[in-house]
Amino acid sequence: MGGQQQKSIHVLLIEDEAGDAGLIRFALRQAQHVSFQVTWMSCLRELHEWEQNTSHGEEMFDIVLLDLNLPDSFGLQTIQTVQTVLEAVPVVVLTGHHDTEFALQTLEAGVQDYLLKENIAADQLERAIRYALSRHELEQALAVSRERMQLALDGAGLGTWDWTIASDQLLINSRWRTMLGYQDDSTIANIETTAAWRALIHPEDRPRVEAALMDHLEGRSPIYEQEYRMCHVAGHWVWIFSSGRILQRDKHGQPLRAAGIHLDITQRKLAEMRLHLLHTALEAADNAIVITDTDAVIEWVNPAFEKLTGYSVGEAMGRKPKELVKSGHQDEGFYRAMWDAILNGQSWRGELLNRRKSGDLYHEEMTITPVSDNHGKITHFIGIKQDITQRKALENELRTLASTDTLTGLPNRRAFMSRLEIEWQRCRCFPDNSVAVLMLDLDRFKRINDTYGHAGGDEVLKHFASLLRHELRLSDMAGRLGGEEFAVLLTGITPDGAKAYAERLRNTIASTPTPSQPPIAYSSSIGITLIHPCDVSADQALLRADDALYQAKANGRNRVEALFVS
Ligand code: GH3
Ligand code: MG
Ligand code: MG
Repeated sequence: MGGQQQKSIHVLLIEDEAGDAGLIRFALRQAQHVSFQVTWMSCLRELHEWEQNTSHGEEMFDIVLLDLNLPDSFGLQTIQTVQTVLEAVPVVVLTGHHDTEFALQTLEAGVQDYLLKENIAADQLERAIRYALSRHELEQALAVSRERMQLALDGAGLGTWDWTIASDQLLINSRWRTMLGYQDDSTIANIETTAAWRALIHPEDRPRVEAALMDHLEGRSPIYEQEYRMCHVAGHWVWIFSSGRILQRDKHGQPLRAAGIHLDITQRKLAEMRLHLLHTALEAADNAIVITDTDAVIEWVNPAFEKLTGYSVGEAMGRKPKELVKSGHQDEGFYRAMWDAILNGQSWRGELLNRRKSGDLYHEEMTITPVSDNHGKITHFIGIKQDITQRKALENELRTLASTDTLTGLPNRRAFMSRLEIEWQRCRCFPDNSVAVLMLDLDRFKRINDTYGHAGGDEVLKHFASLLRHELRLSDMAGRLGGEEFAVLLTGITPDGAKAYAERLRNTIASTPTPSQPPIAYSSSIGITLIHPCDVSADQALLRADDALYQAKANGRNRVEALFVS
């Protein structure tokens, strides 16, 4: 109490004997270093009266000098009454007893000191009061700091343990207990030793925990720290983080006391295990997975990504996917649409042609999903990629297969008709764009089959197709409509041009036998027409060509006939 030197100390003297009271007041006046203000009461009744007339905080005493034997109270009872009325005021007992045993009892009852009335000297009294005051202040400060410490431990949900090693005494706080489901106030009868604590540890964790503790006790680790499972009253396991260290050693350096904390980390452990599970699943996934920040900088890829792209985790980390796999086959609009979607918080799905590290192109199907934080702010993008190169190839193969005639390799009826449809549409919009349709049918083909067999007939069909293909311009198209019936589309051609073309073709066919042994000579009849803007369908134009073909057959075969709408 540094201020005590300057300010006066307010002493409450409770003493029934006026002579003693006078002596004490006289002694206090003699004080060298402090000035005392004294209030004298001769019994506890006066104290009660004072209490009733005083509001809290007003005129408080700094210390009480208390005679235990008063007219209205006696012994320890006097102390208790004074402590109840003057809660936080330190008490020094004045006693006539020469009985030190009783004096010690008063100390246990919470008084700061006792003085024997017989030999009170001024300097002794002053010193006793000053010591009592500073000791009291220290006790108060200690109580406050203990309380703060407890609040901090409680606030952090920390259990505490304090272990006296030689006697194996374990002191634990209530949080330590409640963590394991024991009642706050119950002393777990059995947890007073480390053996009882050990018994609650999961058998699988016990050896590891004991080894860690020994490591610390024997000086191999500066601190003891472990995460392990302990048995809850209800039978399940609670994950505990325990940490502590030696606080006291004997003169040989042997540990005497260790203390530390317990923290319930079950939730964190469960989350960790879940995370581990998810991580393992992502690692094992067949699909390539890439996680980027909002600038598309790669933060994580899985092994399937490495396999798909040829870039290792190390090569991918910190780079952007476009720096690695962009092939240039998608235009800027494609990427813009993608960014528009994902920056708006929507998933995006699309097919891309990308480039592996080796330079090979590959088709991938990708889904990008934005990940948002609790406030809805996008923090990451997750890309899931699947290599669809084989699927694409298969699709192409099937598409070709579906539109190609297997024997001749020419477009089949379906493919030819869909092109004819397009040309017919175009003619309706652009009447000047004239397109000729030729129908071709091999003459007396049944005879060829009869003479050379079916295989010979097939040979002729293939040969015929190759002649057609040879005579075709890039913008034109030939197709096998079925059997030995074929059709040709000629774009941007006049009626005369179409006739001349057909005549030349007829001649080539008639004069070019198959290269087989024996060579097979054959001919073809051809009907010509032009798609007319008035045709109600593509079929109508084809039927007209068929009519012209019928004419050619009727007129003796190996002929060209034309039927134009005027
Ligand atoms: P025309 O001059 O009147 O056209 O006489 P044609 O014998 O060619 O006429 P028709 O239409 O009666 O006969 C066509 C024959 O073509 C019948 C069929 O057996 C044969 N044929 C159809 N498809 C194939 C095929 O893929 N391979 C072979 N080898 N023959 C086929
Ligand atoms: Mg026929
Ligand atoms: Mg025929």
